[in-house]
Amino acid sequence: MFTDRIYNFSAGPSMLPLPVLERAAREMTNINGTGMSVMEMSHRSGAYQAIFDETKALFRQVLSVPESHEILFMQGGATGQFAAVAMNLMGRTGRADYAVTGNFSGLAAKEARKYGDVHIACDTAPRNHTVIPRQEELSLSPDASYLHYCANNTIYGTEWDYVPRAGCPVVADMSSNILSKPVDIAAHGLIYAGVQKNMAPAGMAAVILDRSLAGQELACTPTVLCYKTAVEKDSMYNTPPTFNIYMLGLTLKWVQEQGGLAGMKELRDLRSSMLYDFLDNSRLFSGCAERGARSGMNVTFRTASPDLDAKFIREAAENGLVSLGGHRIVGGMRASIYNAMPVEGVKKLVDFMGRFELQNL
Ligand SMILES: *Cc1c(COP(=O)(O)O)cnc(C)c1O
Repeated sequence: MFTDRIYNFSAGPSMLPLPVLERAAREMTNINGTGMSVMEMSHRSGAYQAIFDETKALFRQVLSVPESHEILFMQGGATGQFAAVAMNLMGRTGRADYAVTGNFSGLAAKEARKYGDVHIACDTAPRNHTVIPRQEELSLSPDASYLHYCANNTIYGTEWDYVPRAGCPVVADMSSNILSKPVDIAAHGLIYAGVQKNMAPAGMAAVILDRSLAGQELACTPTVLCYKTAVEKDSMYNTPPTFNIYMLGLTLKWVQEQGGLAGMKELRDLRSSMLYDFLDNSRLFSGCAERGARSGMNVTFRTASPDLDAKFIREAAENGLVSLGGHRIVGGMRASIYNAMPVEGVKKLVDFMGRFELQNL
């Protein structure tokens, strides 16, 4: 249907699977014979409830979410969850531990400070956030209500390859690596993700919550951010982001057809190893993250000069490989290779990097 697509390496919002976009386009004006768009439908209607229930069931199935955990769809993106996590979970002891391994975990810790005592369990800033701490390097408080970590550092291109352990519930920001590999959900009290990296259009966060943690919110918690209310009202206390939920359902179906999380992991390893193998053998480009900390989703790299980086980004775009600029706080390059990035797109990128290297060494 659409043959004019290019390879978009944006960190988010980012590529969605083409079959998902095509199906949404087909159903845009009339879904399931209702004569209306999902966007125009009452969220209280039977037709919408069926779409909502199917998305939620697929989410549980694809991510193997245990019955102990509830699935919530909330507004305000991942940043909304920085506040929600603290307001809902910090009240038990008034303190929480935050592992700071990049920009977003730093912002999460900063937001949490408004609601209680934040203890920094680690801070990789002195190493330019190129590393991930080992379990024994974490400084954990005996009285923390939870430990928060960011599973994949979108800007710096690092990723935890284990779930940290603590004597309290573990909370993860999985905005940029959810759905890309199997995850031990039960090892977490709460997982949240802004959906615009790997799942759906921007504007929503998916939350996986151990139900036993609901009901500890501070009195000042806004009702739209309250987990207990969201659980009781099945994410429909107010109008939910109806179209996002529908799009998430289409993406989950696509993931299932590709072999689920095991299939996604295989593709992810294939894509990222193509890029890292190239970088490890390159004389012009070098990877930014330490080897043991490399992300399978956001590959950060640079040349020896910002001018050459700019030239690379410009010429790549002329070759149909767009949004390769690093985040403005770090510069260099970043290839975000989420689930929807075809292996062919990464192959094209690696071929282009090879040609650029020969011309610019
Ligand atoms: C993008 C991102 C965020 C911010 O998401 P918003 O939905 O814009 O609030 C937070 N954490 C991580 C890891 C991200 O990649």
